[in-house]
Amino acid sequence: MFDFEIYSPEEEIKLPLLQQKAIKWFIKRDDLIHPFISGNKWRKLKYNLEKATLSKKNHLISFGGAYSNHILALAAAGAKFGFKTTAFIRGEEVKNEMLRLCQIFGMQLIFVTREAYQYKRNLYNTYFSDEKDTFFIDEGGAGKDAEKGCREIINELKQHYDYIFCAAGTGTTAAGIINSIIPLQHNTSFHVVPVLKGYEILKNDINNLLDNSYNYHIQDNYHFGGYAKTKPELINFIKYFASETGILTDPVYTGKVAYCIHDLIQKDFFPPNSKILMIHTGGLFGILGMLDRF
Ligand SMILES: *Cc1c(COP(=O)(O)O)cnc(C)c1O
Repeated sequence: MFDFEIYSPEEEIKLPLLQQKAIKWFIKRDDLIHPFISGNKWRKLKYNLEKATLSKKNHLISFGGAYSNHILALAAAGAKFGFKTTAFIRGEEVKNEMLRLCQIFGMQLIFVTREAYQYKRNLYNTYFSDEKDTFFIDEGGAGKDAEKGCREIINELKQHYDYIFCAAGTGTTAAGIINSIIPLQHNTSFHVVPVLKGYEILKNDINNLLDNSYNYHIQDNYHFGGYAKTKPELINFIKYFASETGILTDPVYTGKVAYCIHDLIQKDFFPPNSKILMIHTGGLFGILGMLDRF
């Protein structure tokens, strides 16, 4: 229903370290799907939009922080496919580049206190109890419909990889990837890179979304202190990586994954001739909120 033709090639990158260690590193460019409906946020929205359409709802309501990739993707996708959009934004009213872009796409913003934000269903019911055409989409597009869209990442792959790496916030994307790796019965080793501290909750959330149990790996040493936390090594790496490959990563998600892979290569974690795939989950506009760190 919402199958606009997407472009997400698997691109091999070149770095001196890769030649030295005889490793092949590919990147699945989900960041190229759309400038604003980017990466995994499109994957996660797709079946939510389908559900909204099937239930004849044309006003999408969702939730996010002031620099949410999900909210920007929703604003642009809503505009593209003819939905009205409203977002509850966590915290006091602010103006920033990201929210401005959302408004240009016609999104309505409602700022709510952090306290009120915790009760999303409540907010939704309070504001929209009289409306018949609204459709609730959870923060980040979480849940089974989002997970289903992420399965398509693996189904699109054109070759086999020994290792696949992906960032995890809620772990929904990771769960979709794992669910589509399981039936392939390849000996692909899947590695999740949590961008938050404390992976036990994440592990639970991923496992709850899995069709079958699966032995994936959690690289828990690359969150740099927690969500949206950075360190100079990470920022310097992002600059190095962008200048060497022409591919931008962001300090919240994909920069941490690229750093992790690079670090593991340096530590000889992968045998020579290994083929690694990193999923670039997009979300590059998030960098706008962190430019002062560069
Ligand atoms: C939202 C986001 C993620 C996290 O996805 P989850 O499904 O919540 O794990 C990863 N990368 C980028 C770029 C994102 O915007």
